[in-house]
Amino acid sequence: MTLRDMTALPHERQPTVLIVEDNEDNRIVYSTMLRHFGFSVDEAENGAEGILKARATLPDVILMDIAIPLVDGWEAVQRLKKDPSTAHIPIVALTAHAMPADRERAIQVGCDGYLAKPCEPRAVVEEVKRILAIRPA
Ligand code: MN
Repeated sequence: MTLRDMTALPHERQPTVLIVEDNEDNRIVYSTMLRHFGFSVDEAENGAEGILKARATLPDVILMDIAIPLVDGWEAVQRLKKDPSTAHIPIVALTAHAMPADRERAIQVGCDGYLAKPCEPRAVVEEVKRILAIRPA
């Protein structure tokens, strides 16, 4: 399957994705892929910046790396899910290993999705699309 096989998003407004990830290469790969499929992308390099940007911009979806500086991803998710202004935003956790315990913890802290790294860029796009599709209008 090529990139052209996937249809453009039907939304008139570009859905926004906030990528919270300390690895620059990953940010570039995920943001490039998401922009290609019509998403508007914002980026944060650590948990503190991620929380600030989430509150300021209220993205449609957050991709949250768990191993990030200042405030780790678990803590960042819990703070965002406890804050009434950001609790509704779906969050997909990105964790370094396919650990069953991490999947359980992701659900426990309120994540809406989970991807084990290294993630295929296409898998990231598919997960974001899945999240947006099941989100109540
Ligand atoms: Mn990381």
